[in-house]
Amino acid sequence: MKFGTKALHAGVFPDPATGAIMTPIYQTSTYVQSRPGDHKGFEYSRTGNPTRSQLEASLASLENGKYGLCFSSGLGAIDAVIKLLNSGDEVICTDDLYGGSYRIFTKIFEPLGVIFHFVDMADISNVKAKINDKTRLIWVETPTNPMMKIIDIEGLSAFTKGTDMLLAVDNTFASPYLQNPLDLGADIVMHSVTKFISGHSDVVMGALVTKNTELNERLAFIQNSCGAVPGPMDSFLALRGIKTLHVRMDRHCSNAAQVAYYLRDHKKVDKVYWPGFEDHPNHQVAKMQMRNFGGMISFNLRSDTQQAAHNVISRTKVFALAESLGGVESLVGHPATMTHAAIPREERMKIGLSDSLIRLSVGLEDIDDIIFDLNQAIG
Ligand SMILES: *Cc1c(COP(=O)(O)O)cnc(C)c1O
Repeated sequence: MKFGTKALHAGVFPDPATGAIMTPIYQTSTYVQSRPGDHKGFEYSRTGNPTRSQLEASLASLENGKYGLCFSSGLGAIDAVIKLLNSGDEVICTDDLYGGSYRIFTKIFEPLGVIFHFVDMADISNVKAKINDKTRLIWVETPTNPMMKIIDIEGLSAFTKGTDMLLAVDNTFASPYLQNPLDLGADIVMHSVTKFISGHSDVVMGALVTKNTELNERLAFIQNSCGAVPGPMDSFLALRGIKTLHVRMDRHCSNAAQVAYYLRDHKKVDKVYWPGFEDHPNHQVAKMQMRNFGGMISFNLRSDTQQAAHNVISRTKVFALAESLGGVESLVGHPATMTHAAIPREERMKIGLSDSLIRLSVGLEDIDDIIFDLNQAIG
């Protein structure tokens, strides 16, 4: 089956009791047993719920995996992956990372003894240089947030294949429609389902997809033991979002491409970060591992101050000023004071995240209105 057909049909089936074509919201915590242990596959909704199961199967299929596990947020999913590790184990991760991932790594797991190395993975030889016999996990985000670097997943999988190191990819920015890390040799794909997959800014959720039975069993054990699971209503909303993922992504990509070229020609704009430009340093890798370049763009201003950025983002009318991304509506944010405020200024500067950097999640509005809005806001 091709992607659009899978988005509609994979993992889901008409309700056996009524024929309802839409997966019902099984709003129940428990399931009646006729005798102890004699049940219809579900015992308690932390462990398993039929609405969630269909969503997990759908996500597994979209990522060309075998197993899906859903969590109450993207960070809940990340938490489960790091809990595969022990004190003293080492992780190599992207330096230009989602702020919440940086926070859970450094503020929750570092004090428990897990060691994190943040490296610039745009050049994968930097990763190789950090690998030692304590390395257990390579954690990748690509495209990176907010600098839109592209990291060669297949190149990294050459380091982890046949070793006891795991390669995990946060695929939130690309979505499964544009990039399938398991096909490129990753062991675990992670999503903030909150973003493009749900797509309507009405759900907070996370997911993990794997192909490996033993790894899935360990992660499912953590999911059930720690209990960060989504409810059936949110699972229903995510399933509903998935049915239009391919259609939405095409428009996100085409709108973003037009915005990227528009910004690049603007006299008040300094640099535009978007992997679709032929002179983007990792454009060739992007073309190899992604089907299109996504809906995210960052840019900074020639007048490189926080004030200049705040002026622009306070004037937009189509773009709403908000955290998050990947919803149908266009959003604008200022990483230095919003999503990435937890990262110290010196660290931000090292990765090029300047004071005036503005991040756009380009939505599905008419492109003329999107450009008009940016034009009046940048001035
Ligand atoms: C939002 C996001 C997360 C965290 O997901 P939540 O659902 O907000 O917990 C992780 N990684 C990336 C790239 C994100 O954009």
